[in-house]
Amino acid sequence: MDARTEKTIKNLELNNMKAYYAESRAEVCKTVEDMLFEGAVITAGGSVSLTESGVWDIISRPGYRFYDRMKPGITDEERLEAFRMAIGCDFFFCSSNAVTENGELVNVDGMANRISSIAFGPKKVVMIVGINKIVKDVNEGLLRVKKTAAPKNSVRLNTGTPCQTLGHCVSLEKGGCPDMTDGCRNERRICADYLISARQREKDRINVIICGEELGY
Ligand code: SF4
Repeated sequence: MDARTEKTIKNLELNNMKAYYAESRAEVCKTVEDMLFEGAVITAGGSVSLTESGVWDIISRPGYRFYDRMKPGITDEERLEAFRMAIGCDFFFCSSNAVTENGELVNVDGMANRISSIAFGPKKVVMIVGINKIVKDVNEGLLRVKKTAAPKNSVRLNTGTPCQTLGHCVSLEKGGCPDMTDGCRNERRICADYLISARQREKDRINVIICGEELGY
């Protein structure tokens, strides 16, 4: 583990979050398997890190009650039901748009279903975070959203927002660091609601598994 990752993990722990370091995707999967129990009720945010790491395949196994928001043929109503099931579920899986060296989690959503579950509801939140998502501070994390996460997710989800074709947020064209409301007014804007998770009152409710490999965006 490098010094920057070590500092991040130490500060996550000081902020009452349980932090793990997993050298590889295989180690991430082993850590997740050790956490889960038979019959656990599981929900998840849409996340490339979960699929790339192999965690999505684990939580989809028949021994768990996984409300899969991405199952083929799912209706809008069923997807909303999966979002609602996050309240009180045993585990909510997702990634974080960025994790700061100070041990803060930076997340920005379009519909807020993911950040609402990070903030409150699930008994445990488990985040799978590639080494590429560690940033110096909150401002760098917000810029990471505008430069990397939002444009790539816009392509993945075919949102039709300006960042899908520009490769960065339209707000960056004016120079400097954009305000939260800067950007497009597209109906499918994917950066609408902002959550910074700093020190937590409920110790170890949030679990952050940092992987030594790059994952997602
Ligand atoms: S404000 Fe619009 S253009 Fe900018 S990152 Fe968000 S969705 Fe993309």
